[in-house]
Amino acid sequence: MEQRFDAIIAGGGIAGSTSAAALARLGLKVLICEAGLPNERRLAGELVHPPVLSDLYALGLLAPLRGAGGFPVYGFALFRGADDEGLLLGYSEISGGRPASIAVEHARMTRALLDATASQHNVTLWYGARVLTVDDEGDTPRVTVCRAGVERQLSCRLVVSAEGRGAKLRRRAGIEVERGQPSWMVGYKLAHGRLPYPGYGHLFIGGPSVTLAYQISRTEVRVMFETGPDRDVPRDLLAPLPRPFRDDVERGIADGARQTAKVFGLQPERSSHGNVAVVGDAGGCVHPLTASGIAFCTGDPMRLARAVEGTLASGLDVELALRRYERARARPMRTRTALGPALVDTLSGTSPGSRLLRRGLFRYLARSPRGRAASLALLSTRQSSSAVMAREYAAVLMHALASLRDDDGDGRPSRLLPAVAELALRGTSTLRQML
Ligand SMILES: Cc1cc2nc3c(=O)[nH]c(=O)nc-3n(C[C@H](O)[C@H](O)[C@H](O)COP(=O)(O)OP(=O)(O)OC[C@H]3O[C@@H](n4cnc5c(N)ncnc54)[C@H](O)[C@@H]3O)c2cc1C
Repeated sequence: MEQRFDAIIAGGGIAGSTSAAALARLGLKVLICEAGLPNERRLAGELVHPPVLSDLYALGLLAPLRGAGGFPVYGFALFRGADDEGLLLGYSEISGGRPASIAVEHARMTRALLDATASQHNVTLWYGARVLTVDDEGDTPRVTVCRAGVERQLSCRLVVSAEGRGAKLRRRAGIEVERGQPSWMVGYKLAHGRLPYPGYGHLFIGGPSVTLAYQISRTEVRVMFETGPDRDVPRDLLAPLPRPFRDDVERGIADGARQTAKVFGLQPERSSHGNVAVVGDAGGCVHPLTASGIAFCTGDPMRLARAVEGTLASGLDVELALRRYERARARPMRTRTALGPALVDTLSGTSPGSRLLRRGLFRYLARSPRGRAASLALLSTRQSSSAVMAREYAAVLMHALASLRDDDGDGRPSRLLPAVAELALRGTSTLRQML
C-alpha cells in the first residue's frame, strides 16, 4: 500500500532536516528525500549564530548538534593587519540573546541533524532518493521521486524545496532568481592552529578580501580564503594574518589538503509558488562572510511551521499558509540581501570611499557599545529590521566623516575629496536600498 505524507521535503541538508522536524511537530506526516550529497568533501557553513541554537532547541535538535562535537563561539574578532590586537564583538553584548554559539564541521553537523530528525515521530527519511518533479496542478500535488533507480509517484499537500542553491524544483515551479557574480572560497583544516582568540570567529581584514577563521573542535581550526578562479591563495591574503597563526596557515597550505566552493549571491523573486515553498539556500543566499546561511536554514522552517500552524484549526490550508510564509520571510531576507554586499564592500573594498567607510566602521565599533550590540544583532539575524540596519549604516557614515578630523588620518585634501564624494554617493544609494 502506498504510504501517505502531508509534506514532502526535497533535500536533507540543514534546511531540510529542520523543516521536517518543524512540520512533524505540528502532527504532519513528513517524508524527507535526500539524494546523498558528499558533505565530507564540501566547504560550507560551520559557524552558527545564537538564534540557530534557539531554533534547534525548540525542535529537539540542539542536543544532537552538541553531540556532534564542535567548539563554542562567543562572537567575532576583527583584525586590521598582522600587528593589530583585534577588536572583539561579543554575542553577550546583545541584550536578551544567548551569549555563545557553536562551530561544528559541516559534514558532522548535517549528518547529526538529519539522523536526529529521522528518528523523530511522524518523520520518514529516504536516503538516496531524489525528488524529480512536482505536478502542482490542483490541491494535491503529485511528486515524482527516484529511489534506488525506481521512479514512483506520491501525493501530498505541501512540498518543501530544501535543495540548496541549485534547487531544480524552484526553477520548475517558475520562481525566477537573480544571481550575483561568482567568487571562489578555499578552506583548510589546521591541526592545532593558534588563533589569537579561540572561541571567536576571526575576520582578517587588509588583503584583497577578508579571511575567515574559527575553531571547529578543541584541536582544529578552519581557515577560509576568497580567491580567484585558479583557487590559489595569493601572498597578499596571508600578509594580514598575525603570527604564529600565519605560520600554521602556511604549513596547512603546503600540506595541500583543501576544500573549495564556488559562491554567489542568489535572490529569488519569491519564496513559494503553488504548493511549493523554498527554504534555506534554495530561498537565496549571500556572501559567506555574514555566516547567515544556517540562520535561514533554521529560521525559514520556523516561519513556515508558524504559518502552517495558523491554518490547522480549520484543516491545513496550504495556499493561506504559503501566503503568510511569503510575508514573514520577506523582511529578514531583504535585510540580509542588503547587509551582505554592504558588509563585504565595507570590509574589503579598495576604493577611497570603501577605505573611508571601513575607518568609520572601526571607529564606531571601538567607541560605541550600543553600536557593537546593534551591528552584531543584525549580523546574527537576531535583528531583521531594515530601519535599524539603515540607522546603523548611517551611524557608520557619520563616523567615517568624523574620522577625517582624527589625528591618525591622511588629511590631504587631494585624497579626501574623492573619498568623501564617493562616500556621499554610495551612502545615499545604499541607504535608499535599505529603506
Ligand atoms: C564556503 C562557504 C562557507 C559558509 N560559511 C557559513 C557559515 O560559517 N555560517 C553559516 O551560517 N553559513 C555559511 N555558509 C552557508 C551555509 O553553508 C548554507 O547556508 C547551508 O549549508 C545551506 O543548507 P541547505 O540545507 O539550504 O542546502 P544544502 O546544504 O545545499 O543541502 C541541500 C541538500 O539537498 C539535497 N538535494 C538537492 N536536490 C535534491 C532533490 N531534488 N531531491 C532530494 N535531495 C536533493 C542535496 O543532496 C543536499 O544534501 C557557507 C557557505 C559556503 C559556500
